[in-house]
Amino acid sequence: MLYPKYDPDTYISRDLYRKVCETGDLRVVWAYSNAQKWKVDYEEFLALCGSTCLICSGELNYGLGKNNNDKSSESTPSTHHIVPQSKGGKNSIENFAIICMRCNEILTNSTHKEIHRYVAIADFLQKHEEIYEQEIYQKD
Ligand SMILES: [Zn+2]
Repeated sequence: MLYPKYDPDTYISRDLYRKVCETGDLRVVWAYSNAQKWKVDYEEFLALCGSTCLICSGELNYGLGKNNNDKSSESTPSTHHIVPQSKGGKNSIENFAIICMRCNEILTNSTHKEIHRYVAIADFLQKHEEIYEQEIYQKD
């Protein structure tokens, strides 16, 4: 969504406002504020910002400013540290992946053991796919 007037809370700078107006690309504002937050190069960070989550392939919504509060976590982009900060992971382009907030929450709260659990769950679901589709998913 584009806001028709320049507002520093939404667009940060007139330059970014102009860029969004010219290109319709909402990523520029999100990328700029996050590049500042992580103290990395803006252009390099922008290049990481794809249109979909690298994990679940869900569409990412780079909506502006206050608009972000209303977005579901599935479409909200977030910066994932491949090596977590708590394990000494750096704020660097090489250590970042832009994924949705939901996948980031799951990843961040996962331990090494959980990887095996997820694989096993996926196997189980696949093995019983028919039952899940007929009996379980439709009753949600
Ligand atoms: Zn995702």
